[in-house]
Amino acid sequence: MKRRTTLKTIGGIAGTVALGPSVVSADESWPREETGLFLTHQQVQDELDSIQRRSRVEFELEDIGESYEGRELTVARIGEGDTDVFITTEQHGDEPTGTLAALRDLEEFAVTNSPYARTVRENLTVHVLPMHNPDGAMRNQRENALPEDYTWEDPYFGEQTGPADPNRQHYFGFTEDELQELDGDDFDADVGIPDENPSPETQAMLDYVLDLEPLWVADLHTQSGMYHNDKENPGHLDHSSNAWPFNPNIDEEGRNISKRMNVAMYDRGSDVANANVTLYHIGGTTVNIARNAYGAYGFGSVLNEMTGQTGDRGERREGQMVRIVREENRAILEETADESLFERDPDRTEEIPDRGEWAEWPWQREQPE
Ligand SMILES: [Zn+2]
Repeated sequence: MKRRTTLKTIGGIAGTVALGPSVVSADESWPREETGLFLTHQQVQDELDSIQRRSRVEFELEDIGESYEGRELTVARIGEGDTDVFITTEQHGDEPTGTLAALRDLEEFAVTNSPYARTVRENLTVHVLPMHNPDGAMRNQRENALPEDYTWEDPYFGEQTGPADPNRQHYFGFTEDELQELDGDDFDADVGIPDENPSPETQAMLDYVLDLEPLWVADLHTQSGMYHNDKENPGHLDHSSNAWPFNPNIDEEGRNISKRMNVAMYDRGSDVANANVTLYHIGGTTVNIARNAYGAYGFGSVLNEMTGQTGDRGERREGQMVRIVREENRAILEETADESLFERDPDRTEEIPDRGEWAEWPWQREQPE
């Protein structure tokens, strides 16, 4: 039985761009299709439908909105627990690793009866929005698909034109007074909050998450690589660089769950997947960024930056990278489900080393003379 419920609210979602979505032509060929790398939006939708058909348990799919070009934004829900958690992937369309990992996680919860799957299903309700930015993904580009001549005044960056970065538009749930309190002079009160969110994709997530009030939000990205801390051994790369909300004005007690999640990801990635997990120490503090915003809204919040994007690593090493993200996801899901997360010492985040120096990938290196 198909259980997808569609919430068609074009133009009806507060704060979304009211330009009207352009029609996605079936004849057009997108970079994502031409390269043959990573999943297209349709493949993600097909995979969600496939998991739903095969699921042994209730597995719900809900279209929570549409991208600027009209592609469905579909949240998958599984589990019967009272604690809600939310995972999103590929806010940046050139950062697809988390999408594949999240689909495999959903499949494990839906079609297996492993102790991990059972613990998660019994104690949590897991909400996953894979491929947050499908228009960008089809272009293998960071931003969404707003037209080049679209212009808006942004209180964080000044006048902006063209495609928007979905990960910089998560502040639309705050009032101007709250933004000033949280971000001080980084928020330009004279500009104020734009009438419309330049990322309808992000607005759809915001509407869903603020209504849900999850315990935490996990935001899966990738960083252009590579990075390493061991110059003598350049293959010893940083696989994953993570972070918690760095905004100085959010509640410290609230921040601790995010830090505990980071410690859990650090331990599990290092111990189980042999990953070098580091701190994404260069992250900003302002609440237009998802990682800070969801902390400020009162939820736990983590950023996971796996290393390598469509333009540098491509799909090389993807099996290893997906395995590592899945172990890090497992750390926060399983430990939230069995409540061991709350025993963790948030101050152990001090053990996590900063991300190392940039270096070329091995395949980018010139042959020595
Ligand atoms: Zn990103």
